[in-house]
Amino acid sequence: MTDRRPEAVWVRIVASELDIFTGEVLNQPQQLTSVKQGDRIQFIVPDSGEHALMVRPKYLKERMAWIIHPCDKCGLSELFDAPSDLMAKVFPNLPPGSMMETFTAFCGSCGGVQVVELAGAGAAEEEVAPRASKKWWQFWK
Ligand SMILES: [Zn+2]
Repeated sequence: MTDRRPEAVWVRIVASELDIFTGEVLNQPQQLTSVKQGDRIQFIVPDSGEHALMVRPKYLKERMAWIIHPCDKCGLSELFDAPSDLMAKVFPNLPPGSMMETFTAFCGSCGGVQVVELAGAGAAEEEVAPRASKKWWQFWK
């Protein structure tokens, strides 16, 4: 939701749990002011998209409840912000406690369009390709 541009930084992986990695930031970010060199951040590797992506606990907590369709331009299959935060920004007049079943958001990486759908809300679930059983970094397991 920020007007700052996305940025790639180097991290040293210090821990991993399931699909969530913890890394120590090795260089000083130029765009982000909320992360600095030496900080530990969590990141995931999207099913599709060019880079790993920093995530926050709120995003990880909400993520399971949503189907995030890949960006129509770059293919990124994750959001830069938690769905509830995006919804609140796009639909400021939603009554408290209510929730959209489907909404669109601009891709944090390239500005393309992503459709975000509440899991189990519609028939579109069958259209979503099944997740690969192993991700690219799991080849040695
Ligand atoms: Zn994109």
